[in-house]
Amino acid sequence: MTRENTVETTPLPCEDHAEACPEVQITEGRSAELGAGFTVRRLLPTRGRRMIGPWCFLDHFGPVDVAGGGLRVGPHPHIGLQTVTWVLDGDILHRDSLGHEQPIRRGQLNLMTSGRGIAHSEETPAGARGTLHGVQLWVALPESARHIAPEFEHHAALPATRVGEAVVTVFLGHALGLAAPGRIHSPLAGVELHFAGAGKAEVPLNAGWEYGIIAIDEPADVAGARLAPGELGYLGTGREQIAVGAEAENRLILVGGAPFGESILMWWNFVARTAAEIAEARAAWQRGEGFGRVHGYAGPALDAPELTTALKTR
Ligand code: MN
Repeated sequence: MTRENTVETTPLPCEDHAEACPEVQITEGRSAELGAGFTVRRLLPTRGRRMIGPWCFLDHFGPVDVAGGGLRVGPHPHIGLQTVTWVLDGDILHRDSLGHEQPIRRGQLNLMTSGRGIAHSEETPAGARGTLHGVQLWVALPESARHIAPEFEHHAALPATRVGEAVVTVFLGHALGLAAPGRIHSPLAGVELHFAGAGKAEVPLNAGWEYGIIAIDEPADVAGARLAPGELGYLGTGREQIAVGAEAENRLILVGGAPFGESILMWWNFVARTAAEIAEARAAWQRGEGFGRVHGYAGPALDAPELTTALKTR
């Protein structure tokens, strides 16, 4: 996904630090526009929180009837991150400058590692009907991996297990003794909990990691807090487990990881370290160099916004 990501930060207790957070800190995020009238709820970054482990961006979109046009995000570049696309309902078609053209469906993972640079488009496939609902997350790449060659992976088979009344799917990284197949570059977990009806689950966590969780379809009880659908609960570090409760069919997305020990600079679709790197990536994209071409998307590539905002590192 795309658009402006720079936000002002006012430090508050238990905000923007990887630390123990005894009370679940709830945010409803903010509305963001992806173009063509497609609006998402942006849960990261927000005022007061830039990252959860290495996760630096979290958009929740839908449910929306694709008869209204669906998702149409033309070719755009990325550096320094991985895009993690997880569909809850409906299909998305991904095309990238490595030549991949990959539909993604419910239960499958698209993982794009930009490394030093890639371009892609994301759209509702032609002829699609029904509902689109999903999340797109970005993982910041550590210094050791942010200049690697770009890669794209699609995984239709992912590890899952039952915890209490929830079916838990690990779509990226490590959780519950399971390892997802996608290549990662720092310790992290991306997990979906699916309750078929009312039920409870005690989900083990890594106490050294920080975590956040989103209720998707219905309100949910998480570690003693009440999350409305679309809200993110920040769990902090230091938890050995969380109790999750559902009153009806519901899905929740849990993300976590080792606190990210590097300061990042995030602007538009780029994760970097310095303003000069951002300016260089922007200029290369505008010149049509360095990211390759996305073929087959029926529409123009995206123009980078003007570099007018003061850039701040986390
Ligand atoms: Mn993108």
